[in-house]
Amino acid sequence: MSRSTELSQVLRSKKEELVTLTEELVKAKSVTGHEQPAQDVVIDRLKATGLEPDVWEPDPKNLQDHEAFFETSSYEKYGYDGRPNVATYLEGGDGPTLTVGGHVDVVDVTDSEWEYEPWELRQEGDKLYGRGVADMKGGIAAVLIAIEALQEVGIELGGDLIFQSVIEEEDGGVGGTLSALERGYVPDAAIIAEPFNVPNLCVASAGVMYFRVTVPGKSIHAAWGHEGVNAIGKATKIYEALEELDAERKMRIDYPPAYRADSSLEGNVTNLNIGTIGAGDWPSTVPSEAVLEGRIGWPPGESRAEVRDQIESVIQSVAAEDEWLIEHPPELDWFGWQAEPHETDTDAEIVQVARTNAEEVTGETGMFVGGNAGLDERFFELYYDVPAVSIGPEGHNLHGADEHTTVSSLLETSETIAHSIVDYLGTAN
Ligand SMILES: [Zn+2]
Repeated sequence: MSRSTELSQVLRSKKEELVTLTEELVKAKSVTGHEQPAQDVVIDRLKATGLEPDVWEPDPKNLQDHEAFFETSSYEKYGYDGRPNVATYLEGGDGPTLTVGGHVDVVDVTDSEWEYEPWELRQEGDKLYGRGVADMKGGIAAVLIAIEALQEVGIELGGDLIFQSVIEEEDGGVGGTLSALERGYVPDAAIIAEPFNVPNLCVASAGVMYFRVTVPGKSIHAAWGHEGVNAIGKATKIYEALEELDAERKMRIDYPPAYRADSSLEGNVTNLNIGTIGAGDWPSTVPSEAVLEGRIGWPPGESRAEVRDQIESVIQSVAAEDEWLIEHPPELDWFGWQAEPHETDTDAEIVQVARTNAEEVTGETGMFVGGNAGLDERFFELYYDVPAVSIGPEGHNLHGADEHTTVSSLLETSETIAHSIVDYLGTAN
């Protein structure tokens, strides 16, 4: 039997283990900002496998001069204490170095629409339900099982393998993947097991930025309202102008990889959302201030600076045509997510290796997808010139109620990644 066949057999025999490990990770609630419980599961697992985990909390002092740095919302709220990253080195031959892994944080459960308990794993036939099964605790489990299978078969790798389990991807990844890269975990290529539905390969991510517009008004008792200026009314003008900008951008901007796997996204590859509005104290006073907070996301093709300019000039042109705002201009701040979009060259060796294996394992043809969500992969590509590809399980209702994936796609992910590790690094024995 060839070693490649043996590797596949060993992996398939680990199907139950893969489900159990996913279950342990789901139960270890790790909403962004509180990642420790799930990292403890990862640390124990690595130790049980005979690997030595490097565990560290990010230090913003070491990151703040990096051009990709921004203060994430979770750092602002919780700091980085008790929020460790985990990485480990598997030494191989003198060949290239490969990073595999993903993020351990998940988004919180904010709606009560769940049919199942979100912090338990629920299996229904091939389907697995639970917060993070797809995004992306299942992927982390698949990578760990792939590494364990490689060890069991006794394959000595021709180059070094880095495994990493990082925090706060959902908030921009500065304290996670950027911190790991800055700590010295810089490979020649990376595979991240985000849920893009193997054999599809994600080769792009969206730019994502948060912004806040503070609109001044003039406060006065409602009975003398004619002497005041209602900040809500002024903010509404800005809201409408931003909606127009969004519509104009949607018409203008196209990026096929963003909707190849979801046709509803065609025509919607860029999006601008005002997510919060705060203004006023009570009905009897003209409000003196209104604050809008929004998010803009866009596919590769424009830089952060270009997108910021567009939003700035829309707000300025609203102000220029308003008697009050021209004298009392709204203030625009950028906060939280400030991510550039990225695109990986599909000819990169790691992309081709992953594609070949994904298609062989699944017996299906894969598509190159991505560009509608912010991803950690950008740090590798944009700031370290390291090609990064995402290959992972099926993912449904990500960030929503009854998030689910399938056991079969998790196993296919594990098998694809195990073979890709061997093919990319080569073997020494
Ligand atoms: Zn994710």
